[in-house]
Amino acid sequence: MKSRHVLILFSIVFLYSVNLFAQTITPAAPAVENGMTPAIKLYCEKLEKSFKKYGWNKSECADFKWSHYRNSVLGNPLMWTVFGDVSDENKDSFKDKDVTIIMCGVHGDEITPVKFCFDIMYYLRAAYADPQNAKDFHNKVVLVSPLVNPDSYFKAKPSRMNARGIDPNRNFPTKDWQIEARKMWLTKFRRDKRRNPGEKPNSEPEVIFQVNLIKRFNPDKIVSVHSPLTLLDYDGPQHSATNGLDGSKAQELLIQMSKDAAGYNIKDYPFFPGSLGNWAGQERSIPTYTLELPSSDPRKSGEYWSLFREAMHKLVVHNLRQDVAKAPETFKNEPTENPGLIPN
Ligand SMILES: [Zn+2]
Repeated sequence: MKSRHVLILFSIVFLYSVNLFAQTITPAAPAVENGMTPAIKLYCEKLEKSFKKYGWNKSECADFKWSHYRNSVLGNPLMWTVFGDVSDENKDSFKDKDVTIIMCGVHGDEITPVKFCFDIMYYLRAAYADPQNAKDFHNKVVLVSPLVNPDSYFKAKPSRMNARGIDPNRNFPTKDWQIEARKMWLTKFRRDKRRNPGEKPNSEPEVIFQVNLIKRFNPDKIVSVHSPLTLLDYDGPQHSATNGLDGSKAQELLIQMSKDAAGYNIKDYPFFPGSLGNWAGQERSIPTYTLELPSSDPRKSGEYWSLFREAMHKLVVHNLRQDVAKAPETFKNEPTENPGLIPN
């Protein structure tokens, strides 16, 4: 082999290694709150293309104000947008606010949920601007992250897992993760590539993103939209919980949402080691709803939004707090390993 060839070969191996290294660390993102940057603009262009591909109307992605601290494995922004006022986030007055977190596109091959979150955003944008709703939306804050797993969604053939082949809904740092998650994957799921929980908990940027968002804003309720299991599932407190939230109110809301959506199927789906329902609902007593739409068919997005519009309105405006006079020490005062503002 000529030395020139050796040099070329060496260069290829070197560049490949650099690329692998770049993929194993989360690329740094310039932090932005409630704004627009070139990175977000680029992301919105990609999203717009996907909307066109699926036959949806314009996304209006660039018209929303985004908060962006963290990127995915492949460098796509992981972001959320806010409805309501969070300017008092670090003041006592924020504790009185009823915070809802809505997330979609955790599994990148579940296409329709991404549009569903955008439909929620168009709805909330109009609803918050309408003075007639002032009473309903008083002290309500909604954070929407419409695409938690952009790497997989943006692929030519979208997949469930993130770019490292890990399921973002099996990698949450639940108490049973160390003992159960990998064991379950190796035995019960026989190394099913669609259920890989990773080598260690909270290792994936898409999971760290969700964990930090939840820790930072201490929501009163969470909804994660998936497809295609056709069910509405609840994980969280069954009765009054130590965080001041009332499980019976949360279950009333579950029933109400089903009623509003033509009696949609309520099912107590089991939660798994490393799942959001387990980490947020079971362990932290935050009422956590999983809405599984009937299919991932992008042509059905309008139909699904009509079915759930009223339920999503109720979700946002329904207060799940216990009677304040009886509320014990709340979760909001619980010290976390990262007290104060936790950049996402
Ligand atoms: Zn899913």
